[in-house]
Amino acid sequence: MPIGMVILGRQGSGKGTQAIRIAESYGVVHISTGDMLRAAVAEGTELGLKAKSIMDAGDLVPDSVINGIVEERLLKQDVQSGGFLLDGFPRTVGQAEALLTYAEDDLRLALNLDVSIDEVMTRMLSRGRDDDTAEAITRRLELYETETAPLLDWFAERGILKIVDGNGTETDVFSRLRAVIEEISEK
Ligand code: AMP
Repeated sequence: MPIGMVILGRQGSGKGTQAIRIAESYGVVHISTGDMLRAAVAEGTELGLKAKSIMDAGDLVPDSVINGIVEERLLKQDVQSGGFLLDGFPRTVGQAEALLTYAEDDLRLALNLDVSIDEVMTRMLSRGRDDDTAEAITRRLELYETETAPLLDWFAERGILKIVDGNGTETDVFSRLRAVIEEISEK
């Protein structure tokens, strides 16, 4: 399988937007667990029914549920031939460990888009998504610090973490990301 990447960053850091641009430029499959869950909610599937109240509260869907969805997605042909960029996964050490069992050899890069809490608050309050209530935003940021931020060390220990400044225009941030990805893909 070609290059596998994950993009980390607080909610509102712009990782979704940048992930789309990366996928377009490098041909990797963009896998957003948030988008997959929102699609399940919209379709009213069993998963969607389970996930809706968790998402509205800004809580995390259990690892046992989300890991299975990601594993299944990674096994599809498009990912096997094009590689992947995971956006919004992993969010816990349990998810990161599961990811290693699915894609250890292919996982080459963990990008962290670094944007301050104040800045992401402003951005989230202006995007107006259903689950962007002040309470849910606070809860998500809290969970990011306790559950997801420890992943930065976890990826750093494995030598694949790259921190990218997420401040500035979309284009500026994208060129910083591109520089890092190109360095890795040349290796
Ligand atoms: P996002 O679009 O990435 O901000 O995700 C929206 C919501 O979906 C989150 O607030 C969580 O409730 C849920 N979600 C998305 N990805 C995950 C994940 N990897 N683990 C647990 N919950 C998730």
